[in-house]
Amino acid sequence: MPETTLTQLSDHVYWMTPGAPDRPSLAAVVGGFTLMLDAGASVAHTRLFLGALAAVGVAAPRSVALTHWHWDHVFGAEILPRPLIAHEATAEALVRLAGYDWSDTALDQRVATGEEIASCAEDIKLELPEPRRVNIALPDTVFSNRLDLNLGDGVTCQIVHVGGDHAADSCVMYIPSERVLFLGDCLYPAIYAPAHYYTTRRLFPLLDTVSAFDADIYIEGHGGEAMSKAAFRALADKMRLAGTLVDSIGADERAVLAAYQTQTGQTPDEDMQEIVTDFVTGLTAEG
Ligand SMILES: [Zn+2]
Repeated sequence: MPETTLTQLSDHVYWMTPGAPDRPSLAAVVGGFTLMLDAGASVAHTRLFLGALAAVGVAAPRSVALTHWHWDHVFGAEILPRPLIAHEATAEALVRLAGYDWSDTALDQRVATGEEIASCAEDIKLELPEPRRVNIALPDTVFSNRLDLNLGDGVTCQIVHVGGDHAADSCVMYIPSERVLFLGDCLYPAIYAPAHYYTTRRLFPLLDTVSAFDADIYIEGHGGEAMSKAAFRALADKMRLAGTLVDSIGADERAVLAAYQTQTGQTPDEDMQEIVTDFVTGLTAEG
C-alpha cells in the first residue's frame, strides 16, 4: 500500500489517504471550525492526521463524525475533542465494543466463536501491538436519519444514514459547496460472514441514495484514489448489472458472466467477477 498522504481535495476539504495495516481515509472539512470525518484506527493514526493538518496550517478539529462502527474508523476517537457525532446504531455498536476485552487472547476467542473476523483481529494486532489499550469513546451527538451541520464560512456538511451490506449503520458525508462525498465503507460488501457478500435488497437502495448526491469527488474508506463522478457511475452501473443478472440467472457464476459479456460486449474484468461472486454468495448468506 502506498504511503499515507494528506491531499487538499477542494477549498475546504483535506483528505488523508488509507494506509497499512488497515487505516481508512480520514478527512477534515474546514469552515469557521474544522470537522473531522472518521476518527482513525488508533491514537497513533489519529495523531498522524492531526500532525499533517497542523503542518499545512489547518485548524485542529473541533468535532468528529463517524461513518460506521468498525474498529478502524473509531479506535482513535479517545483523543479527539467533543462532540463525537454518530448514527444511533453506531452509538449502540460502540457500547458493545466498549465492553470487550481487546487482548490477543480475547480477540482470538471472539474469532473462534465467529463474533470477530480473522482479518480484523490480525489488523488490530498489527495496528496496536500488545500490551494493547483500547478506550472506546462513546458518541454524545446521536441522530437517526440525517444531520446537517453548519461549519460557518459558508461550509455545511450533510451526514446521511445510508445503511447497506457492509454495515447497517453506514453514513455518508456530503459537503455541497465542495461537491465532495465521503463514502466511508458503505459500498463495500458485508464482511461479518464466512465469505463477504452483497444483496440486491440492500445495495440497490443504497446506490439510489448515494447516486442522488451531485458530487464531483467521491472518497472511499479504503480507496487510495478519489473517484470522479464518471468513475462512481461506472462502478454503480457495474454493481446494478451484476446484481440484476444474479437475481435473474441465479448462482451459476459462469452463466452470469457469459450473460454479462453478451449484454455489454465486454469481457468481465476482475472487479466485475468479484462483484458477481459477492452477489452469488449473498443469495444464500442469510439463510
Ligand atoms: Zn468498515
